[in-house]
Amino acid sequence: MNQDTRLNHLRGSPRCGAKTRAGGQCQCPAVRGRTRCRIHGGLSPGAPRGAGNGNFKDGYWTTEATEERKWVRRALERYAKGTDQ
Ligand SMILES: [Zn+2]
Repeated sequence: MNQDTRLNHLRGSPRCGAKTRAGGQCQCPAVRGRTRCRIHGGLSPGAPRGAGNGNFKDGYWTTEATEERKWVRRALERYAKGTDQ
């Protein structure tokens, strides 16, 4: 792969959307498969899962609950577009 191709891939890569103190977005290249750059948490897998690690009050933000809400939203979008049938 020559240098121009590599530079074009770098330019076309998704950008980090982290908010900067100046008010804009970071715009560094995001880590592969993620939406943030290496500085803004792109490399971090996040906090450990489960009830032993977290400050749960009502379960609204558990993985299961957020996945369920995503599923409902997708189903609603499909229904609204009329592609459900
Ligand atoms: Zn960033």
